[in-house]
Amino acid sequence: MDLHLDPEDLAFRDAVRRFLDENLLPATRRATALTTGFINDPEVAVVFHRALHRKGWSVPHWPEKYGGTGWTQVQRYLFEAECARAGAPIYNGAGSNMIGPVLMRFGTDEQKKKYLPRIVSGEDCWAQGYSEPGSGSDLASLRTRAVRDGEHYVINGQKIWTTHAHKSNRLFALVRTSTEGKKQEGITFLMMDTGLPGITVRPIIGNGGDHEFNEVFFDDVRAPVAGRVSEENMGWEVAKYLLEFERGGNPVAGRVRAQFARLATLIGKKCPGDADIVARLGELGTDLDAMEMIELTAVSALQTGGNPGPVSSLLKLRWSQLRQQLAELAMDAVGVEALRWIAARPLYDTLQLPADEEQMLSVMPRYLNYRAYTILGGTSEIQTGILARSLLGL
Ligand SMILES: Cc1cc2nc3c(=O)[nH]c(=O)nc-3n(C[C@H](O)[C@H](O)[C@H](O)COP(=O)(O)OP(=O)(O)OC[C@H]3O[C@@H](n4cnc5c(N)ncnc54)[C@H](O)[C@@H]3O)c2cc1C
Repeated sequence: MDLHLDPEDLAFRDAVRRFLDENLLPATRRATALTTGFINDPEVAVVFHRALHRKGWSVPHWPEKYGGTGWTQVQRYLFEAECARAGAPIYNGAGSNMIGPVLMRFGTDEQKKKYLPRIVSGEDCWAQGYSEPGSGSDLASLRTRAVRDGEHYVINGQKIWTTHAHKSNRLFALVRTSTEGKKQEGITFLMMDTGLPGITVRPIIGNGGDHEFNEVFFDDVRAPVAGRVSEENMGWEVAKYLLEFERGGNPVAGRVRAQFARLATLIGKKCPGDADIVARLGELGTDLDAMEMIELTAVSALQTGGNPGPVSSLLKLRWSQLRQQLAELAMDAVGVEALRWIAARPLYDTLQLPADEEQMLSVMPRYLNYRAYTILGGTSEIQTGILARSLLGL
């Protein structure tokens, strides 16, 4: 792949840098740097998202007719890399990277008109209601029941690990509408408001001390049929399409590179003479380069209107492992200082210390929370299985 930057690309990159200098507020940068969870808090990220929206850059990866930018692949790559380098947060990937592309592919004109502009502007924040107790990797075994009653579905059951359900106004969920035939054949994809009567959201605190995900209970919830995507009992096809975007729809190499750069700075300060630590950093840098090359091929498929395909599983596998390895190396670089623990969250609201000390306090919670990367969005074992079946023909 030719990544030579011509003068136009360099001018574009400078324009992105200028935009970031002017619009990425110091408070947002600090909050992002001190976020210890696996995802940015929407109330922090939305401030930057609104600035992007004013510029017309909030969903650059979408087709232009829905609010995308029409950038070339190189521009898109440069934009992501610059945002990550500057410490910009990402707002609500469940909206722009999951339900957005699904609606473009399967939604009715009415649904597109109602929901897509609100994702572009950041007015809506979405949560993903797939997993249930006992139905994670074996997602098709899900049991949350939806029974049609006129123009509504009446829903009873439970979802779990629902990221930011407590901060979202919309939810998309997989529900069981039939128990006939194969288990994949009785699933329906439904969108609804999280404020509907009968929905209860209960927090789960992660092992790093952050409240990011939840249990969501449905007790005779009446959700309008108008929120159904595709036909009744045809939700499995929609669900799988969405997962490809969840795993490989948005470039993450820039983010991992930013994590790598922070770690290199930390190592430079804490243990520059430690040959083992420095060698491990070098190895991870090489792995990162390799992953980035794979990612660029996936990005180019999206640019031409395609979906990521099975390569998304390879990317998910590699970026999740790399993020964990970098977090682990940070622990080793910091040593016993990582044991200092501040329980209050978020750290950016709690701490008022010199920047280096604040960063030190985020190393342990981040390491703990990042254990989740190889589980969320489908575990590493599941990705390996998909790769074996689809790429190797096993
Ligand atoms: C931080 C985080 C955020 C999440 N956010 C959301 C969200 O917003 N919405 C949502 O719906 N879900 C969310 N999830 C749930 C996530 O998708 C599931 O945890 C994941 O799919 C695994 O399912 P499980 O937890 O039921 O584990 P299980 O499926 O029970 O897996 C347990 C172990 O068995 C292994 N295993 C299972 N089946 C196989 C197999 N066929 N072959 C080989 N090994 C296998 C797994 O790899 C794993 O090691 C989130 C999870 C985490 C950790």
